[in-house]
Amino acid sequence: MSRPARISFVSLGCPKALVDSERIITRLRAEGYELARDHAGADLAIVNTCGFLNSAQTESLSAIGAAMAENGKVIVTGCMGAEPQKITSVHPGVFAITGPHQYESVLDAVHRAVPPQHDPYANLIPPQGVKLTPRHYAYLKISEGCNNRCTFCIIPKLRGDLVSRPAAEILREAERLVGAGVKELLVISQDTSAYGVDLKYAASSWRGREVRAKFLDLARELGELDVWVRLHYVYPYPHVDDVIPLMADGKVLPYLDVPFQHASPDVLKRMRRPAAQERTLRRIAAWRQMCPSLTIRSTFIVGFPGETKDDFALLLDWLDEAQLDRVGCFRYEAVDGAVANDLGAPVPQAVKEERYSRLMARQQAISAKRLKRKVGSRERVIIDEVGPTVAKGRGKGDAPQIDGAIHVASHRPLRVGEIATVKIERADEYDLYGTAIGY
Ligand code: SF4
Repeated sequence: MSRPARISFVSLGCPKALVDSERIITRLRAEGYELARDHAGADLAIVNTCGFLNSAQTESLSAIGAAMAENGKVIVTGCMGAEPQKITSVHPGVFAITGPHQYESVLDAVHRAVPPQHDPYANLIPPQGVKLTPRHYAYLKISEGCNNRCTFCIIPKLRGDLVSRPAAEILREAERLVGAGVKELLVISQDTSAYGVDLKYAASSWRGREVRAKFLDLARELGELDVWVRLHYVYPYPHVDDVIPLMADGKVLPYLDVPFQHASPDVLKRMRRPAAQERTLRRIAAWRQMCPSLTIRSTFIVGFPGETKDDFALLLDWLDEAQLDRVGCFRYEAVDGAVANDLGAPVPQAVKEERYSRLMARQQAISAKRLKRKVGSRERVIIDEVGPTVAKGRGKGDAPQIDGAIHVASHRPLRVGEIATVKIERADEYDLYGTAIGY
């Protein structure tokens, strides 16, 4: 029999795109295709693109260019695939283009390019599917698309309205992942707190009981799987309050990733952000009262069209009061097709840079102060990387890739995926340092 067809794969963009890549690769492996490390020598190359910002589109186009040069037979999928002319105008020779989540179309295109060698055998793939993330943590995507219409965002245009997965389907996937050794589940979607709205919260059957497609019900069931469960992209709607007791009880990690994006009511209104009207400072205080160990992470955009000096000053004051643990910041970047571009005078680049630096400096002091409070405490730490003398891991307050790390000295070698108890001895702006005292 001839050798299996080999496919090289490039995955760009956010964790949601990574989940798409994992699904495509799982299907390809199930059909007998093999993955190639390099484009050169592969039978076909697939590029999963990101089209969120113009800079991401440029990166995607250059990744396609590299695949074209090194291989020549290229399938493009992902967010940028929603606008094929942008791709064909630069790379007219691509073999096929499909949009985000069009797994079937990607597979069809692969079959046309290099027909499968033999029938699928389920046992070609591990039971949890192929994970591009390390085996001890995995992203769990609970819905696709988004019902919001934030004016700076073209995701709904690219990915469509919210489509939630039934609760039982998500829980079965989570159970499979846990059975395969995953210790931490990262729940993702475009708007996690809106989960199930499109399904009218319909229940589905899981372990002999009916589980509604509701944020709280899903979080409660995931909390029963006895692994770390981390919630991302949660908006400060009132019903989020209900999930905090699960965090206080240790069922779900005391961690909330809430992309606030701004604090000025005027900017938030023009951004058309979900929950823009909510009294977020009061809500944050109430969350912390219910669960004092809660870590709140957020992202902000500076230089949104029409953002005034006063808007920005209000944002800095808000940060002082909110005392968030972790913050990421973006300078507004015009995205073709985004409504926001026409909503106000563009903020000059130099002003954006200045506001970015001021925000980061202000927040760095807050983050450092909050991290310092952990010195002397004992933290459970999941180990991501091991070195000869020190391992690198994360506590309950740190998500992979986006938050800081905990550097752990240990008397015995630690294993990747192991969860150790660590006495924290030192902190800097982003990271903690300590010694393992329990395994
Ligand atoms: S919530 Fe807003 S920013 Fe997030 S995907 Fe939906 S429209 Fe875009």
